Amino acid sequence: MLCKHCKNEVTKEMDVCPHCHQPLDESLFEANQTQVLSEQPNLSSKTLLFGSIGVFLSFLFFFGIPFVHFIGIVLGRQGILYAKEDKSLSRPYSRNGQLLSWIAVGLGVFGIVFNIVYVILNPEVVNG
Ligand SMILES: [Zn+2]
Repeated sequence: MLCKHCKNEVTKEMDVCPHCHQPLDESLFEANQTQVLSEQPNLSSKTLLFGSIGVFLSFLFFFGIPFVHFIGIVLGRQGILYAKEDKSLSRPYSRNGQLLSWIAVGLGVFGIVFNIVYVILNPEVVNG
């Protein structure tokens, strides 16, 4: 962490900053820890949000709206990254969000494959 007086690097074991000789406040460490913990539920809801919007967009592709499944894949991938960042995977939000994110990516990739196969089977779609 950084000394709040001179912004130099200090460790938790130090009572006094070696750079500016100011006493180091113990409550700073506690504040940092609370901040990390309070960010976790935020990550869980982000995972859930990105996953569910991703699934929705990937799903919309199958109703004839072009290109939305690409956004679905991107959002789903982001949801998976958020779920990985979240250290408390026992939270139901993260698990549901992670599952939704994988479904979003899966549906989106399936959409791309589906599109390619459709064009191969129906070349007249491309040729007009
Ligand atoms: Zn200092």
